[in-house]
Amino acid sequence: MENESLPRHRRPTGLRTFLFGAPYYPEHWSDAERADDAARMAAAGVNCVRMAEFAWDRMEPVEGEYDFSFFDEQVECLGGVGIRTILCTPTATPPRWLSFRYPEVLRVDAGGRRMEHGSRQHCCTNSPAFREQSWKITSAMAEHFAYSRHVIGWQTDNELNCHFSLCYCEACQRAFREWCRRRYDDDIGALNEAWGTAFWAQSYGSFDHIVLPYDRPARANPGHVLDHRRFVSDSTCEFQREQVEILRRAKAEWLITHNGLMPHIDYAVFARDLDFLGVDLYPAFTEEVHSIPYAADRARSAAGNVLVPELQAGPGGQVGYIHRTPPPGQMRLWAYQAVAHGADGILHFRWRTCRFGAEEYWCGVLDHDNKPRRRYQEFSREGNELRRIGTEILGTSVDVAAAVLAEYDQEQAHAAMPLGMPSPSEQARTAHHYLWRRKLPVGIVEASDSFDGLKLIVLPSFTLMDEALAWRLTGFVRAGGTLLMTAWTGTRDRFNRITDLTPPGLLAGLAGVTVEEYGRLDEAENAIELADGTSAQAHKWYEVLAASSAELLGRWRHGHYAWALAVTLNRLGAGRAIYVGTYLSEANAAALLDLALAEAGVEPILPGLPADVEAARRTSADKTLLFLLNHGDDPQTISRLPAGRDLITGKKISGQLVLDPKDVAIIA
Ligand SMILES: [Zn+2]
Repeated sequence: MENESLPRHRRPTGLRTFLFGAPYYPEHWSDAERADDAARMAAAGVNCVRMAEFAWDRMEPVEGEYDFSFFDEQVECLGGVGIRTILCTPTATPPRWLSFRYPEVLRVDAGGRRMEHGSRQHCCTNSPAFREQSWKITSAMAEHFAYSRHVIGWQTDNELNCHFSLCYCEACQRAFREWCRRRYDDDIGALNEAWGTAFWAQSYGSFDHIVLPYDRPARANPGHVLDHRRFVSDSTCEFQREQVEILRRAKAEWLITHNGLMPHIDYAVFARDLDFLGVDLYPAFTEEVHSIPYAADRARSAAGNVLVPELQAGPGGQVGYIHRTPPPGQMRLWAYQAVAHGADGILHFRWRTCRFGAEEYWCGVLDHDNKPRRRYQEFSREGNELRRIGTEILGTSVDVAAAVLAEYDQEQAHAAMPLGMPSPSEQARTAHHYLWRRKLPVGIVEASDSFDGLKLIVLPSFTLMDEALAWRLTGFVRAGGTLLMTAWTGTRDRFNRITDLTPPGLLAGLAGVTVEEYGRLDEAENAIELADGTSAQAHKWYEVLAASSAELLGRWRHGHYAWALAVTLNRLGAGRAIYVGTYLSEANAAALLDLALAEAGVEPILPGLPADVEAARRTSADKTLLFLLNHGDDPQTISRLPAGRDLITGKKISGQLVLDPKDVAIIA
């Protein structure tokens, strides 16, 4: 039970083999076209494929008539060369007979438009008829494949909520009413109180009268909206849980995962039903080097180390766009970047580019013509390296000393009343980006996770506050931690109602300030003059602070509140709490976060690193792995290295290393 004692974000997956491979779609290819697949995969170091997530029609061509022979053959053929299979429940692409016979399963958007067959994710996960079909196909697959020694686990569905998360069908309406009834213990008065239905005569006399929150004709009630978003996440978790329970009953040793991260799912809850979470990574959408660190760190915050069921191989293209083709070395570098940020398995999307369908330009390891080119060579190099070194990486997890806190409800509360201001996650990304650029051991940590091992916590406008979280944050500071919180923190209760306390509400004692006035700022309208004479740009918002016990870190420079407190520091116990009376932005992150770093004692992973070189550290009780990744186009000299051995080259390292462009070293 060693894992259980670790903070959630620090838990390894428990995998004993580092998984490497690709999502594989044999149903798209003829016997002749597939003939070399197993041998080519094995030569490339593949030990795992993911299959069948979009093949329901092949396995149940007619309702109730199952035929698993095709996938039996594929699983056996791959198993024969040592490649194991992660199967998927195929519920992201329900077959036509299903929606034809049970049209009530089709999702409906807020405008009343019914989704149709012909793409994917068109069925509602709250529909009883669809739930029944999900139960049947999952049960049939579980029962059948329990006897296959080559099937090691499952992915539930595929990217739940990827295209469609807010459904307004009648089944959702009914399910939301029942969810509300349970949440408020059948007490409609409690719901009216929680949502503040006294406003605009919205009060309900019965749970049977509750409607889904529509923004029509005017904006919906923020309390109603937040509860609905909780319902959407809870019911998505419940849909998955039904599948997981079937699979676990069929074979307890199966590993079960899912590929996120998508809207309206609280992954900290969702992942409790899984062995580990998966995260799909497509960095070519933004081409930012920070893309994988942020996405992987977010995913890891839910339940620890992850599998990457889909990592970009080639360019991805759909109707409206096509990515730039990743240059040589990029695919492998992305893979090691994901590993540096907590991946215990990498599957590159996908084995071979399909010649038809909506993703015919979502390019895989092999091209349309099935000829191995540079992407296959690179995939092969990576696979054979990971086959050699993978087990040395497993069991370790990513060091985090500087954390940005995240919580599903905070984001949803903001979305219900955004006022044009940055969301908690936008600020989290900004803070994470800056701390990562500073080469610090940064991570995203769920608010409900343990704060053990953290020296700095950035709390990005957590408006919802309760005594338990306030108490834990206070304990973190008293014990020596540094907390930085930004505008609007602690202004609401857990029902998304504004509290009667002066902001920052339950955190006023910890911050040592109250907010006496606030208002919108237009860009460049005001700046904060910091105590050392430098300045920080305010972002969209000003708060005038009154100190009870805090000391000055920054004042407003202009306006009727010029010289009023804008940023403060309050010492409490062995630690300190910094309150920032504006939002974080790319422009002010350095100035404001440096105030916290000056106090927090967070050491860089390796001092003096060149700008293009990223560092991350994975550790366990008896092991430290230092990842160094050169994202630039020139060789980089890295100094002040600890003595050790590069896992990839096997070479001894002492003091200095020259890293080629797009290359990586893992020093053990
Ligand atoms: Zn629905």
